[in-house]
Order: sequence, then structure tokens, then C-alpha cells
Amino acid sequence: MIIPPRSPSEGCGGGDPEWVASLDILESAALRTLYASSRQFACATNRSEILDLLVHGVYALTGMPNAIFASTSTSERLRRTAEFHLPAGAHTEIELAPHIVAMLDVRGALVADERSPEWATLATSMCTSGPWLILPVTIPPQPHALLIVAHTKGPLASTQHAALLNLVSDACRALDRIARAEAIWHDTNLSHSNRILAAVNAVTDIGLLYSNVIDQMLNAILNQILNALNLAAGAILLYNDESEDLEVASALVSSQHGQHSDLITLWQAALLPTSIAEARKAANQGQVLVSSSSDLQGFQCHLGVAQLISVPLLAGGWLTGVLQVVTNDHTSINQYQSQILHILARQTAVAIENARLFAQTRNDQERTSAVVDATNDAILMLDERRRVMIINRRARFFFGIAERELQEKDLDQLSVIFNRIFEDPPRFHGWLRQLLRSPTERVVAEFRIVRPEPRLLQCFSAPVMDVHDRYLGRILVFRDITREREVERMKSEFVSNVSHELRTPLTSIQGALQLVLGPKRTGSEGLPQRARDLLSVSLNNTERLIRLINDILDVAKIEQGRIELRRETLSVDELCRAAAAEMHAFANHRGISIDIDLQPGIPSVLADHDRSTQILINLLSNAIKFSSSGQSVLLSARTDGSMVYFSVRDWGRGIDLANQERIFHKFVQIDSSATRDVGGTGLGLSISKALVEEQGGRIWLESNLGHGSTFSFTLPVAPGISTHGDQIIQEALAVVATRQLHVLVVDDDRYVRPVLVRLLQRHGLRVTNVADGLTALTIIEQARPDVVLLDIKMPGIDGTEVLRRIKENPLTAMTRVIILTANDLGESLQSQVLRLGADGYLEKPITYERLISMVMSPRMPDEDHHEL
Ligand code: ADP
Repeated sequence: MIIPPRSPSEGCGGGDPEWVASLDILESAALRTLYASSRQFACATNRSEILDLLVHGVYALTGMPNAIFASTSTSERLRRTAEFHLPAGAHTEIELAPHIVAMLDVRGALVADERSPEWATLATSMCTSGPWLILPVTIPPQPHALLIVAHTKGPLASTQHAALLNLVSDACRALDRIARAEAIWHDTNLSHSNRILAAVNAVTDIGLLYSNVIDQMLNAILNQILNALNLAAGAILLYNDESEDLEVASALVSSQHGQHSDLITLWQAALLPTSIAEARKAANQGQVLVSSSSDLQGFQCHLGVAQLISVPLLAGGWLTGVLQVVTNDHTSINQYQSQILHILARQTAVAIENARLFAQTRNDQERTSAVVDATNDAILMLDERRRVMIINRRARFFFGIAERELQEKDLDQLSVIFNRIFEDPPRFHGWLRQLLRSPTERVVAEFRIVRPEPRLLQCFSAPVMDVHDRYLGRILVFRDITREREVERMKSEFVSNVSHELRTPLTSIQGALQLVLGPKRTGSEGLPQRARDLLSVSLNNTERLIRLINDILDVAKIEQGRIELRRETLSVDELCRAAAAEMHAFANHRGISIDIDLQPGIPSVLADHDRSTQILINLLSNAIKFSSSGQSVLLSARTDGSMVYFSVRDWGRGIDLANQERIFHKFVQIDSSATRDVGGTGLGLSISKALVEEQGGRIWLESNLGHGSTFSFTLPVAPGISTHGDQIIQEALAVVATRQLHVLVVDDDRYVRPVLVRLLQRHGLRVTNVADGLTALTIIEQARPDVVLLDIKMPGIDGTEVLRRIKENPLTAMTRVIILTANDLGESLQSQVLRLGADGYLEKPITYERLISMVMSPRMPDEDHHEL
């Protein structure tokens, strides 16, 4: 019965990971056996050595006893020529019955049927009842041979099966080589060059097979040389770069001349001085050196040496070492042997050089991969075919995958694996595929993974080029920034909390000072001048502190991605004029004039009112700060396509090229001594940049040192509303704003409440104030104020509850309620108060202007729920 080779999945639970793992182990064991055997086959110098190696190899692969039976040309039987672990009592011969003859020509593995009577001879030869695995082996010059494996175990795995066939064919090739080499050596008609060629081939084969184990390689080469030239013993001495001398690396007695276990010791102790001296001479002269027995006492007594022949091993002009061989029994080396030795030595030198280079390359490689493995980052490299070429230990840990799951995988297979790891796999795959199309791009991006545990990864990717600038692939370096981000978040949360805590007391200080000094900041008549000056300084510093805190809070918001914009259609004209008006006093104070130049009929922009004003004010205040008295500052706006271009031009000190990019970064001030007297935090431009970009625009700078600067930014043109429409709305708002209002202030803070009351009264409004929610509700129902300024955080019923009740009661539902808060409301609370019907909210510290404009503005329902 013939058993065909089986497919890998047969008889196994396909896809079961345990099975896959065991197959891997099996495969690597089988590969190791194959690899070891093919090396040994290459070094073998005669048939019986190869057959012995084969039966050992078969046992190593299958764990089953086996034997080789070969015919001689004259006999009608197959005779056992090699065996391994055959049970005692086995016969040494098999008769060449027809069914056995039939086996000899069949390629592939066969198994005999143990029940049929003609197999009885085989059973006795193998001393097992069968079945057997039988493979034909070609052993030239004999015509027939069979390898018979006693099939004592279960069925062979397909990998073992394939490995067995490979092993047999390797052995056949080695047997063939021996046969051809023998033919060459024994054919006296053959030219010298053919013989040399055969020996050189053998040495080259060994060099290739053993390049990673130099000691074994030297032994194998030496053995090959001794056998080929029928020499008694030999040694290879290698040049040691450190000691700058020759050292014995291998010493052998030819297998045909018996064993000498202590040869290395002997060579080193008794022969080394002579040997090295001879080797040096040979090396110096660069040619084969033959020394006669009279010079070689040590060799003489131990081995009966006649001659010591030293051949320098030269590769690329460098002395690698020296090959030494000895003849015995009074024989001398002949001219022909000497020539061959010379050529073999050259070949040996090349093999040694290759092995050294190989070892060095491997060392370099190992060192590189050790470095790559030791990093804290996960590293993955895809080659130019987009297959995984490198994956380091950390990547396996990050992604929780075994190396074999990733190694050599292509992009599609990689995608399948990453699908279960990344939070948003399409985003990652899209990013990667786009990068793989670019041979130059270097980028950084962030991705979240959900398995094996949630992590935030920063991924850097760059092309990998060799020294000749050829594209080798793309590297991906993943850094775990989960903790870093967490710390950043905690830090900026802490900064916001502290700033909020500072804002509340500053509000009441600012309010109180504004009250005392009045709208023109000149103070009431009753105050002495000195007191007025001191109070004015206090108010300026309070406002400066508030600006600083606001900047810090803005930066925290930007970093946390919490900038909330309320985009609306804004008139460019008004935006610019309002900003200039706000800067007017400051400019005046510094002796600077502000000019405005707007393109006629410029369209409105779609932008956040307060944030856009903030950008303009920041740029104007910088322009004023860095100009000299008497100069002017020009604010202009024009439209181009879908964008409105704003620019603020000054003729002040200017900014040198090196600093132009930097000043948009946080905390950058070019000359802090110069900025000290004008004040500033170094935050304004970074905030402005974030605010512009968040609104879909960009900001840039043109400047020449000593010749002033122009800061420009863009905002998108508002779709569809004409300037005329804007005007009508504005006019309508102005009519309603002049109506006198009754305002109820509800705030439990006994410092803030009176300040608010006075500020509102100063504006001619009727103001009532209460400290708690319940009283407020009663007053609202009875007195029906137009506007309620409602603090959100109060003991008893809090602001949200008061708001809910106001809006639920049909009698009071139309009352406008503006929420007061010391903190950012936060998204959930903000949407909660808007849902409950709040008409807007004001964050403390509240400026006089903002308070009045909010209270006075007759917001349409749903029109403006936002503050600043
Ligand atoms: P601040 O003005 O609060 O220091 P900014 O971020 O607004 O912070 O500005 C950063 C720095 O850029 C300033 O300190 C100053 O050195 C420089 N700078 C900004 N605007 C101008 C300008 N118009 N002329 C000269 N230098 C300027």
C-alpha cells in the first residue's frame, strides 16, 4: 500500500492554536535535524559515514528504529550496511523477492502490509512485525539499497514525513559526491585541475555550511584536506589581532591514521614553538614551507612525522593564519600535493574570512536588535513589500501579540490583527496606508488602543533609507503617553481650579475699586489726590491680575480641548471699531494713535464675538506696547474669496526672523527686559493662534527688525447674510436696549452682591437684591423683574433649582435669567441650565461693560445663551 504525502491540516483540528504551536515546535525540531545532518553530510569523507549519519538522522526525526540494506552487484540479497536501534536478533540480509524489487524503483514513502506472507523475511530482518516505512536509497556504485524504518509509532506528521524525504535525498546527494570524488581521485587519466576542483568544492561547501560556527568549520575543513591528500595530521593556526601572534585553532589526526585525543595539547606543548616558528616563516615568505624531520623532534617522537608543511592562509592580501600538515612513515609531500595544498589553503582562508565577517555581521545584528528590544518604545518596521520585517519585544508587549503572529505578515493580515487592538481601526489603517504611499513623509499621530489594555499611543513614522538612499521600508515607533497625558490633564485641571479660586475675590476687589473711582477712573471729588492715585494703581494691578488669570485659564482650556465657540454672523466694521475703542485709553496713555482702514462693503464673518474681539485686542495691545510715543497703529480688514483678512500694522521695534515662528509658542517673550516695563505674559499670541485656528483661519507675521510688524489673521466670511440685514438687526437691538429695566440680583456672596447692585444702579437701572433662592422666587412672582442675575452656587435651593421653578411657573416663565458663575460651567451643567431655559450666563470676574451689555441686551429666545 502506498501512502501519498499528506496535507498539513489532515488529522488535525485546523485552526486550533495549540495544534499550531505544536506544529511550530515540530517544524523547528525537524528543521534543526535536517540542518545538522546536511552539514555533517557535506563534511563526510566516505560512504559508511554518510549511511551512519542517515540512520541516526532518521531516528532523530521519527524516533523509530531503522536500517539500510544495500545490494552488492554480485549478490541476490540486500545486506544490512547501517542500522540504528534495531532490536536484538535482527537478520543482516533480505532476499530480493519480487515485492522487494518492486520497492526499489518507487520514489516516495511506502509502507508494507504486515499480514501478507511475503513480508516474512523483512519481518525477521527488522525483528518487528511491521508495518514498515520503506524508502529507496541510491548508493553508487551499488544498484540497490532500501532504508527500512520500523513503523512502531503512530502515523508520521506531514512535516516529519517531508523532512524524512529531504533527509534521504540529502544523503543521496552526499553519496553521489563521494562517488564522483573517488572517481576523480582514482582516475589517473584525469587532469590535475579536476582533482583540485573536487577538493576545492568540498572546502567551499563546508565554508558555506559552517560559516556561523568557526571552530567546527576549521575541523571539518582540516579533516577534508587530510583525507583528500592522505596526510597524517594537521592544524590550522589563526592570527590573533590582539596578541599579534598565531594560535592553534584546530588540530586533527586523519581518521585513516588512528585517533590522538590529546593532539591539541600535544601540538601546543611539544610542537607549538617549532610549528609557530615555521608558520611565521611561511607567512613571511608567503609560500608553502616544507621542513624535514631532523628539525622536528617533538613531532617525530609522538607521531612519527617525516615532514611538516606550513602554508600561509592569505585572504585579500591579509594573513589570516597558517595551515600546517604533517606526513609520516618516511613519506614526503610531492610536488602535486603541494600545489593542491596551496590552492586549498587559499580556499580555507576565504572561508575563514567569510566566517569572521559573518560572525561580525551577526554580532552587529544581535547588538542592533538588543538595542531595539531594550527601548521602551514599540518598534515595527514594514519592508518595501509592506511586510512586517522588524518587531521588537516592547511591541509584542504593547499589542499583546506573539512574534510569530506578526513576523512576515503583509498589510492585510496586519490590519486583521490591529482591528482588535485599535479603538478606531479605520483611522489607523487609513493613516498608515497613506504613509506607505509616500517615501519621504515623517509624521507623528496619536491613537488609542483598547487591547490588551487601554493605552494612548503616540506614533512616529518615517521612511527607512540605506546608505545609498534606497527606500528599505517604513518604521513605526509607538510611545505610550497614557500616563503623560493624565499628568498633563491633572496639572491643567489644578491650574484652572486655582485660577477660579483667585477670580472670585479679584472680582469683588475690581468691582469695589471701579465703584470708588467711577467710570472715568478719576474718583469721587471727596477723595484726596494721593488716595485716588493709589486706588487707580490698585485697580490697574487688579485688572492685570485678572488678565493673567484669564490667559492662564484660556491656555488650560485650549490644552484640554475645551474651547467652546459660539459662531455667529459678525459685522467686521463693528468688531474692529469695538476693539479699537477698547484700546483707545491705553493707546492714548502711550501717545499712540489707532487708525482703521476697512475695505468698503466688507462682508460679515462667521465667528465667535468675544473670542474674535480678544484676538484683535491682543494684537492691538502688542502693537501699542511695542511702538514708541507719537507713532500710529493701523488696523485694517479686506476680503479675498471666502476669507476676511485682518491685519494689525505697527512701525515699532519689529521682530527678527529667528523669533518670528517662536513667538506664537507659549510663554515666549523675545526680550523679557524690554517687555517687563510694558507688561505681558507671553501667552497672548499662543492663545490668539489657537483661537484663530479653532475658527477655521490662520495667523502669521511679517516683520523687519527696527521697521515694525504686521500681524495678520483670517476668519471665514459668513454665508448668506447681507450687510444690510445686519444693520436692521443692530438697529432693532439698540431701540430695545434703551428701555429701563428692573433687575433682581440673587447671590449669597455678601461682597459680590453690593458691588453688582451699585454697578447696575450706576447705569440707571432699578435693582433689587436677595441672598437666597426662596426669597428670590417670592420676589420674582410678586415684583416681576425683567432680568434675574442668578448665582448658581447657593446654600438651600441652588441656582439651577430656582431657574427651574422660574421657568416652570407660567407667570414668571418669560423672565430673563442670567446665570452667574465663578467657574466654567462645564459642558453638562451648561447644557442643563440652557435646557432649563436660562437666557445666558456670566462668568466671574465680571467687568462693568460686560455686565451692562448682558443685562441690557434684549436677547431673543434661543439667540444667545452664551457668555463671553
Ligand atoms: P505678551 O505680549 O503678553 O508678552 P504675546 O504672546 O502677545 O505675549 O507676545 C509674545 C512676544 O512677542 C512679546 O513679548 C514680544 O516680545 C513679541 N511681540 C508681540 N507682538 C509684537 C509687536 N507688535 N512688535 C514687537 N514684538 C512683539
